[in-house]
Amino acid sequence: MITRHQRPVLIVGGGPVGLALAVEIGWRGIACMLVEQGDGSIVSPKMNEVNIRTMEFCRRWGIAKDVYESPFPPDYPLDVAFVTTLAGHELSRLRVPPRMTKPESHSPVRQQVCSQMWFDPILQGCARTFPNVELRYRTRLEAFEASDEGVTAHVVDLQSGRRERVEAAYLVGCDGANSVVRRGLGIELGGRGVLDHSLNLFFRAPDLLKTCGKEPGTTFIAVDHSGLWAILRAIDPANAMWRLMVLAIDAKETPESIDREALICRLTGRPMDVEWLGLSIWTRRSAVAERYSRGRVFLAGDAVHQFSPSGGQGMNTGIGDAVDLGWKLAAVLDGWGGDRLLPSYDSERRPIGTRNVDLTTGFYLDHHNFADGLAVIEEGAPSACRKRQRLGEALVRDVGRMFCTAGLQLGYSYENSPICISDGTSPGPDDPTEYIPSTRPGSRAPHIWLLDGHSILDLYGRGFVLLRFGANAPDVTAVESAAAARGIPLKSATVTTPEAMELYGRRLVLVRPDGHVAWRGDEPPPSPTELIERVCGVAA
Ligand SMILES: Cc1cc2nc3c(=O)[nH]c(=O)nc-3n(C[C@H](O)[C@H](O)[C@H](O)COP(=O)(O)OP(=O)(O)OC[C@H]3O[C@@H](n4cnc5c(N)ncnc54)[C@H](O)[C@@H]3O)c2cc1C
Repeated sequence: MITRHQRPVLIVGGGPVGLALAVEIGWRGIACMLVEQGDGSIVSPKMNEVNIRTMEFCRRWGIAKDVYESPFPPDYPLDVAFVTTLAGHELSRLRVPPRMTKPESHSPVRQQVCSQMWFDPILQGCARTFPNVELRYRTRLEAFEASDEGVTAHVVDLQSGRRERVEAAYLVGCDGANSVVRRGLGIELGGRGVLDHSLNLFFRAPDLLKTCGKEPGTTFIAVDHSGLWAILRAIDPANAMWRLMVLAIDAKETPESIDREALICRLTGRPMDVEWLGLSIWTRRSAVAERYSRGRVFLAGDAVHQFSPSGGQGMNTGIGDAVDLGWKLAAVLDGWGGDRLLPSYDSERRPIGTRNVDLTTGFYLDHHNFADGLAVIEEGAPSACRKRQRLGEALVRDVGRMFCTAGLQLGYSYENSPICISDGTSPGPDDPTEYIPSTRPGSRAPHIWLLDGHSILDLYGRGFVLLRFGANAPDVTAVESAAAARGIPLKSATVTTPEAMELYGRRLVLVRPDGHVAWRGDEPPPSPTELIERVCGVAA
């Protein structure tokens, strides 16, 4: 027997991106069902880095505290060390302060380390607090049909075998790299494609660093005579859990053909007993979908962009997709978003997917740029020592840059967005390392602490916010009335903090529900109605 359900939004995939979308739209009061074929447990955790922008969203959703309280020790150094072997030479070290150091200067939060085995359950727990969000595990999407009126999805309960039909206004495929939804839409991936085949080995090894004579650190990058071949990462220091990622293995390797002991011996420089916890072979790709949606069906996360994990931006970019799509779906379902709003998801997020994939692919390619000094890397002669020193400096400069990405994380802007109103100024440099705050339309509205002790970001989220800077800022009653006449949530806020006035650089700045600038000026807009209709996707 087939049961029918009706939902405004059906999300396929309960990885971090699907869960973040459920949280974002649940937070906005919109009902959704999420189907996930797994049972929600994390067998092979992938991500660890929750970047600054994702932490800002977590703060808005009320779960930043849960991330801060996750089991990764708050005072454990996040140092990155380049080594010949773990017991061998340390070529250089990038000092990175522990995760609970004071916030970044450009944000009320700091980038966090929180393994997927903790982060996904935090998102799950948050999604479950919304009565309008239904999470269905062990449930797989098998097929779907979409029309101008809605989407019909065919799902199967993997425990009972019962088939169900879900009717939804919109369907979002957050179903990962092999997305059934993307393939169902006939959307191809573009880009360089496969970069390599990699191996992850999970193991427990108490006192690993002490035994090998190394200072604490979170990431150890192994470089031997053949080059940079592996990255060791502390996943759960309190439980001595590590992940060894071996780059560029033979495509024909299978879990059975992998000699795990030999790889540990190559890493540490000596035979060593470890407790094996897991193994996965995966394909590293550099790819972006040719489009992010078709009609009423949307795609987000790994379904549309596949990254090298170098720099830890794959999930974070997917969560950025979820936030951009979330407020637009909510606006349309609430009746105030215009016909042009949902199509702007592709115009805004696909260029960011391409930018971030290209930057992180560059980080990965940098791993292979070292030849000088490798031949003598293990030798004891003074000349070998000097070569190691030079190699160490080059590694910190060139490979180390993937650990310094404030610009990549916060400096993205929705250039040429159809729902942001250009003020004719030119974009600044897009430097992945350095974040340069800007209120150019399309940018993330920058953080600054206000006189009352709040971050200005705390004003954003629920609806549009029209900021008036200074006690004598122009009157915006006409804009408020234009928004009210169309049922658009907009409030104005007067800000007199001198630093905020200087940072924002205009007397009026209109910020969207996702915290990006839609418009700015020193005088009220000549036509408040046109402004409002444009930023809500009603008018072109
Ligand atoms: C080693 C490694 C380290 C990484 N580190 C980081 C990091 O530090 N920071 C970062 O931002 N990113 C990192 N990434 C990337 C990150 O893990 C991915 O970008 C992220 O998991 C993508 O999330 P997603 O929800 O889009 O897809 P996925 O995590 O792949 O989730 C998709 C979900 O959809 C489900 N699904 C698929 N098909 C169906 C179906 N038909 N019906 C129902 N359910 C279905 C799957 O079971 C799965 O749970 C790393 C990746 C790797 C490999």
